[in-house]
Amino acid sequence: SQLSTILRGLVIKNTGSWYLVKTDEGTYVECKIKGNFRLKGIRSTNPVAVGDHVQIILNQEGTAFINEIEDRKNYIIRRSSNLSKQSHILAANLDQCMLVVTVNYPETSTTFIDRFLASAEAYRVPVNIIFNKADAYNEDELRYLNGLINLYTTIGYPCFKISAKTGEGVDTIKEKLKGKITLFSGHSGVGKSTLINAILPELDIKTGAISAYHNKGMHTTTFSEMFPVPGDGYIIDTPGIKGFGTFDMEEEEIGHYFPEIFKASADCRYNNCTHRHEPGCAVREAVEQHYISESRYASYLNMLEDKEEGKYRAAY
Ligand code: GDP
Ligand code: ZN
Repeated sequence: SQLSTILRGLVIKNTGSWYLVKTDEGTYVECKIKGNFRLKGIRSTNPVAVGDHVQIILNQEGTAFINEIEDRKNYIIRRSSNLSKQSHILAANLDQCMLVVTVNYPETSTTFIDRFLASAEAYRVPVNIIFNKADAYNEDELRYLNGLINLYTTIGYPCFKISAKTGEGVDTIKEKLKGKITLFSGHSGVGKSTLINAILPELDIKTGAISAYHNKGMHTTTFSEMFPVPGDGYIIDTPGIKGFGTFDMEEEEIGHYFPEIFKASADCRYNNCTHRHEPGCAVREAVEQHYISESRYASYLNMLEDKEEGKYRAAY
């Protein structure tokens, strides 16, 4: 009708059949998308995602439709399966990611961490590494943990040592969430739900209850939600986002997503050096001189091997 209103807002919930949009005026509107709605260039079963800035049309009858999606600075997708070309967008416009890891109970491998970091680089999402369960470690584990913090801080990833259980360090994390859309990731068991509970006690998400809630008759494959945090930030903890895919990385690209390897590779003799056996490889030299850590180099080779074998292995 002619008497409709156009508003701008942020998509904060996607149920698979409708979207919850928080308008710039601060109101909440349930929106549908038009049947013929397609986002240029992207084939998706679900073209709108949490984090999208959208324009909506409010009709007089009280119905609302998403009319336009603003350009995204980034987005993460999930394929329905490895074989399927179908994919859907899980979240858009992420400002950062909090990767929650543990050095024990259970141990998060450096291979996993490095894969995650490399794929986040490819998606241009900055990552903070949260080392959780600091209360539970013995001296050896703490020494190893501090070594990892030293390693990843030097490369450029902010690191935090916390205990979601005792609350140590949690305020620092809360501070980092202000004004940003943050994705929480990590293996199950590392204490992600406990940490989110500590950040949002008023939400009262009992440990493990987020996923139970998600499974309650919703379109579980597309459901996603952002939770507001004090200071105008949002957090996303969607089951199914365990990492970013690495499937679309070219072999010669992988080194670009290891910042210290990329930096060293400027001095390799060959332009297309894969940093394995080539003579005059500055990366291997840097590993020998301990400027690049062996675990990082091993993760790099590991990703390269997977790529060669044509394997798709997600970051988890
Ligand atoms: P999630 O699978 O990552 O969501 O992990 P949960 O939050 O469910 O936690 C898994 C287990 O680790 C639970 O038994 C928690 O009580 C425990 N846990 C979580 N955070 C900490 C922590 O900081 N210290 C210790 N000691 N245990 C923790
Ligand atoms: Zn090289």
